[in-house]
Amino acid sequence: MSTYHWLRAAVPALCVLACGAPGAAEKPAAPGPAALPAAGLSEVEQAIARAVDEANPEALALLERIVNINSGTMNLGGVREVGAVLRAELDGIGLATRWVDGAGFERAGHLVAERGGSGPRVLLIGHLDTVFEPSSAFQRFERLNETSARGPGIIDMKGGDVIIVHALKALKAAGVLDRMTVAVVMNGDEEHPGEPVVEARRALVEAAQGAVAALAFEDGAGDPRTAVIARRGASFWLLRSTGTPAHSSQIFREDVGAGAIFESARVLDGFRARLAGQQYLTFNPGVVVGGTAVTVDVPNNQGSAAGKTNVVAGEMVVQGDLRTLSPEQLEATKGVMREIVGRPLPRTASTIEFRDGYRPMAPSEGNRRLLARYDAVSRDLGLGPVVAVDPSKAGAADVAFVAGVVPMALDGIGLAGRDDHTDRETADLAMLAPLTKRAAVLMYRLSRGEGSGR
Ligand SMILES: [Zn+2]
Repeated sequence: MSTYHWLRAAVPALCVLACGAPGAAEKPAAPGPAALPAAGLSEVEQAIARAVDEANPEALALLERIVNINSGTMNLGGVREVGAVLRAELDGIGLATRWVDGAGFERAGHLVAERGGSGPRVLLIGHLDTVFEPSSAFQRFERLNETSARGPGIIDMKGGDVIIVHALKALKAAGVLDRMTVAVVMNGDEEHPGEPVVEARRALVEAAQGAVAALAFEDGAGDPRTAVIARRGASFWLLRSTGTPAHSSQIFREDVGAGAIFESARVLDGFRARLAGQQYLTFNPGVVVGGTAVTVDVPNNQGSAAGKTNVVAGEMVVQGDLRTLSPEQLEATKGVMREIVGRPLPRTASTIEFRDGYRPMAPSEGNRRLLARYDAVSRDLGLGPVVAVDPSKAGAADVAFVAGVVPMALDGIGLAGRDDHTDRETADLAMLAPLTKRAAVLMYRLSRGEGSGR
């Protein structure tokens, strides 16, 4: 039973949380697309904003084009095709692009683009794949009205990919890209990561080396008044309890003990009693099988059990998940769980195994600093303040793999909309240009050094 299998079983559920949950943060006033003149911008920044507006029809056309290419994670050809379209765009901007082959982790691969300059390195994170495989009925970009369109992956996260490309285009048009040091990584398997994960995320982690900041363009909470500075990670656990089969009339006798089912129940209730309610921690037993004869298909979260009411159960297996906000919280929780597991009822035994999936992204001081800079950019653009999403609303995403590598990271600054991972996935097209301006001006300011103003 490999990590791959654990992830395969569990990741689709994560992504719903990652991308679709509503923000619970305090909401400032909504930024309007027809925002007021940007009084807080320097001349260069005004030129960047104008360049974004001028290229906006082109950005919308690019979005429609790539949404219409199916790139479900396992449609490897489709993922590569979306990668080829975006690669040509990045080539055109003057970045050195390459395709990282995904054969080693059974996925399409990743698009990586870089350019060197004198400024500090900034990493931009996108992804090429969607949850909609060719078998899905949801395949096409559909314009609903002037300001919205529906389509598979339109906000998760082809809209974010377009923001990356067009922010870079605007920086180039304003004549400031040359001195910037930028790396772009668009993974081909964010929704269903390849295995081993360390291989599947090697290009991303390498690109993060030496970067002062990572900007990830997931749709986040779908609300442009919020951004993500912390995401919970997700791990998985497998509890196995064994007991001493005997006639039920003898249960609890010294030589028979409590049986496997009472033992698993003890452990689960111990988890609940000791750990439930801790902030940002959740754990959930999702499926159990127990009895005299038990089979378990861990990758598919399935199993079968047979037993008799008059026989003390010999085995019980429980599969569950575990979500935490920091690696420290994860380790501490595992410690408590192991401690509970290690005190079995008479004539029973339990073991627990953990498999780590997505890592947590803790709400670091650096991330808060980056959000403050993004918030300042938004205000200077006349687009209103931006606050942090409640981390319990933000699930796992690729940015977490670099959170421990870069001093500052920010996610959820992709295209706004709603209902991702469903056939109602809808983008707020009026936000495409404003969000691209925010990204471009932030990148420009970062390129001038963290401490500097404009
Ligand atoms: Zn996504």
